[in-house]
Amino acid sequence: MSPKHLEDMYDAVIVGAGAAGLSAALGLLRSETVKEMKANGQEPKILVISKLQPLRSHTGSAEGGIAAALGNVEHDDWHWHYYDTVKGGDWLVDQDAAKLLAEYAPETVINLERQGVAFSRTADGHIAQRRFGGHTSEFGGEPVRRAAYAADRIGHQILHTLWQQCVANGIEFAEEWYVTDLVLNEEHTRVAGVVAFDTHTGKTHAVSAHNVLFGTGGAGRLFHTTSNSWDLTGDGMALALAAGLQLEDCEFVQFHPTGLAHTGILLSEASRAEGGVLRNADGEAFMEKYAPGHADLAARDVVSRSIMAEIDAGRGIADPKDPEGPKDCVWLDLTGIDPEHMEQTLPQVVETIRKYANIDPTRDYVPVKPTAHYTMGGIPVTTNGEVYRWQNGERRVVEGLYAAGECSCVSVHGANRLGGNSLLDACLFGTRSGRSIAARIAQAESSGESEAADAALEETVETARAARQSELDMLLAGNADDAADDNPYQLMAELGSTMERAAAVRCDAQSLATAIETIDNDLAPRAQALAAHDKAATFNQEITAIWEVRHLITLAQTVIAASDARHESRGSLKRTDFPDRDDEHFLAHSMTDAAHEVSWQPVHIVDMPPKKREY
Ligand SMILES: Cc1cc2nc3c(=O)[nH]c(=O)nc-3n(C[C@H](O)[C@H](O)[C@H](O)COP(=O)(O)OP(=O)(O)OC[C@H]3O[C@@H](n4cnc5c(N)ncnc54)[C@H](O)[C@@H]3O)c2cc1C
Repeated sequence: MSPKHLEDMYDAVIVGAGAAGLSAALGLLRSETVKEMKANGQEPKILVISKLQPLRSHTGSAEGGIAAALGNVEHDDWHWHYYDTVKGGDWLVDQDAAKLLAEYAPETVINLERQGVAFSRTADGHIAQRRFGGHTSEFGGEPVRRAAYAADRIGHQILHTLWQQCVANGIEFAEEWYVTDLVLNEEHTRVAGVVAFDTHTGKTHAVSAHNVLFGTGGAGRLFHTTSNSWDLTGDGMALALAAGLQLEDCEFVQFHPTGLAHTGILLSEASRAEGGVLRNADGEAFMEKYAPGHADLAARDVVSRSIMAEIDAGRGIADPKDPEGPKDCVWLDLTGIDPEHMEQTLPQVVETIRKYANIDPTRDYVPVKPTAHYTMGGIPVTTNGEVYRWQNGERRVVEGLYAAGECSCVSVHGANRLGGNSLLDACLFGTRSGRSIAARIAQAESSGESEAADAALEETVETARAARQSELDMLLAGNADDAADDNPYQLMAELGSTMERAAAVRCDAQSLATAIETIDNDLAPRAQALAAHDKAATFNQEITAIWEVRHLITLAQTVIAASDARHESRGSLKRTDFPDRDDEHFLAHSMTDAAHEVSWQPVHIVDMPPKKREY
């Protein structure tokens, strides 16, 4: 669907139609302020723009669950959830934000249920909950059932429910529109709107707005091996950098230990919980050596690092689909699990292995490697979703600009996210952002925005659109042969391999320097020289792929700069040249801009002083 006509000025434009964007749209629409406006005959003008049909957003692939201490499970309480989140994030978590996350988690889950999410049920009718890594009872006690689930399809349930609610509430969508620019006013103090490319018609549009929210998701495609879908190219983060903003803690990328070789598709943690064992090239079950007592069920970052240590020591195996390739996988041995039990408890895992690797997991070992899964950092936001710059030791909010979900960093995940906390982050802080946008709309209504101010914003967005249009004309007019056989897909593959070698799971100054040289001297200039092979602007996927790979390159440079600046190991970031956590110098958020200037923002410690992270 495309809007029938575009308004000159929107009250709110939401970019992204995953859990974060849709929650924001609903939070905005259902707020008391908007209800009052409607009662007075005023209708806020809202548009949701998504480069995908909304139901294709990555939120739909979440399997395991959404975390909340609902009060049905003995020995659980939101305070333990709060503690686990801070500890899981290796104390790089803003504790005021994490407290909100844990305290309002039950309300968020109940609201989802009331809107239509069909959670699995216990025999006595409560919402069913399962165990997830790092979620414990009392300060770090026994594992506790905290992840509310809907079989192994929680994301699918949430996405469909939120989307149906949006449709029922008449929210307008611009589907398969790709946002190419975030436009701020000339002083860079408030938002002016976005430029969007309608992939159906091939036209660029100036979309002016008093408020803009980015819910554009993560950037797993930075790495060759990733559990993320193809659209997760970090567009929102790259556009924020291009608009002169910073990214917070972008050096922290979570690797899930068991991605299926060749594809990176996630093989759920449940496969090890049911008895699966990781083995090296010699057949040795190596995890007990690295995490005595926890073995294969140690925390995600610990297992991923252990796998890499085996590979680095020459005990890895080659992907059977590429026997001459690098020995960068290990085996997941599921053969000890009773075949019938495996079919019953791990249907999705079994199906994935059979379909994508052509292997029978009841008889043969499965090749796996750590897969890029989640970006902990992102566009810095307050707990009301307002985007800010960290300048002269304080947060300076960009008026009218908001972000939520995986592209944002409200800093509830710190250096390592706990399973089940990201759907919660997206839904909860998405809703909160929507409500704060509503308050801002109401304020503008009462103070009466001047038409002259609006006209100035509209002109700024139109200027950005015209610049984008001429760049698009050049992409189409350019001689693709000049760029030989270069194309964005080839570049994305090379970037993924470069990042994988340099920064997957562990890195050091040397690996980062090698990667940045390749990116700066080879990949970045080639990305700038790309031209479209097909000369039509309509339905031309290569055009958006060119923008996507440029976004990934900008982001890769920034991630490397931030990783290079942090001289310690914490959570998902393992610097082999700085193996220990260093609270004295780095208990701080990195704030990195497009010029790769890194400044440091203190972590908000409320009531939990840093401790050693042990499981
Ligand atoms: C395989 C997998 C399993 C997971 N399992 C769990 C789990 O069990 N529990 C949990 O809590 N978390 C899980 N996660 C993480 C969680 O699903 C995500 O972090 C969360 O869904 C992100 O939601 P989002 O709304 O921020 O982004 P997304 O759902 O990724 O949506 C991004 C949206 O932005 C739009 N967009 C992006 N760029 C542009 C652009 N340039 N122009 C226009 N639109 C744009 C896209 O069209 C899309 O609609 C999992 C993730 C994966 C990959």
